[in-house]
Amino acid sequence: MDINALLSKLPDMEPGQVWLAGAGPGDPGLMSLLTLKGLQQADVIVYDALVSPEILAMAGEHARLDFAGKRGGQPSSRQQDISEHLVSLAREGKKILRLKGGDPLVFGRGGEEARHLVENDIFFRIIPGITAGVGGLAYAGIPLTDRHTNSAVTFLTGHGADGGLAKDIDWEALAKSSPVVVIYMALSRIGLIAEKFLESGRPADEPVAIISRATTAEQKVVVTTLDRCADDVRRENIEAPAMIVVGEVVKLRKGLDWLGALAGKKLSADVSGIRPQGSRT
Ligand code: SAH
Repeated sequence: MDINALLSKLPDMEPGQVWLAGAGPGDPGLMSLLTLKGLQQADVIVYDALVSPEILAMAGEHARLDFAGKRGGQPSSRQQDISEHLVSLAREGKKILRLKGGDPLVFGRGGEEARHLVENDIFFRIIPGITAGVGGLAYAGIPLTDRHTNSAVTFLTGHGADGGLAKDIDWEALAKSSPVVVIYMALSRIGLIAEKFLESGRPADEPVAIISRATTAEQKVVVTTLDRCADDVRRENIEAPAMIVVGEVVKLRKGLDWLGALAGKKLSADVSGIRPQGSRT
């Protein structure tokens, strides 16, 4: 079956409906076919700053592109304004693609926008995307779980509702129970976050990876430790967006950095010295 035949079997966008879709972390190859169909069929695409230009380039010729995010230090459009914009476009009978980076329901406020649509009796679909905490790690050659290291993982935001660290995080419990912590929106607070982990008993030499601009041509990965990570972020001039990964699992990158291998790096499948969860803390 060719790709167009496959796309034609997928649902069509209907006038007055919103598709709340994820674009994935950056590489257009990681986008879903449903999101691609939305790009082709939408009258209006309301997109966030994290959606890559290569993906927007796949929009149909008739589509209008409405930017709804931060740019050049300008404050982001207010959430309420975006939600109301979606409602008024739907009432005009437009086919609307609300396109977000990664997955729309992972630290993306997709749920809030969807609830606003529900309150206004507007039908929508939710189309998941590959979240940066999954796709970004895969492109850095870091597994989220591995039987040598961990059987649980936590996704965390470094950015609470009021701009500081989220208030509802029990750092001691987290440090104790979650061998691998994958942190979004944390680059500017990495020092504070590392301090919280150290105060809660995680070892100073615990491995940390910072994955900047994951899955794009500018991807950069820095492997460091809890006690050095804040300095290394400054020294290496790491740019947003970036994911931070804390845990022994980071060491597995030496055997799985497939992007590095494609560029000539030698990988090592040796897992000796990689310690299981619970043995460090
Ligand atoms: N809904 C998105 C997350 C939005 S929050 C998702 O599921 O991926 C924004 C944060 O996502 C950024 O601060 C960064 O931590 C992370 N992020 C998104 N895209 C990224 C990328 N290509 N590389 C690294 N981090 C990314």
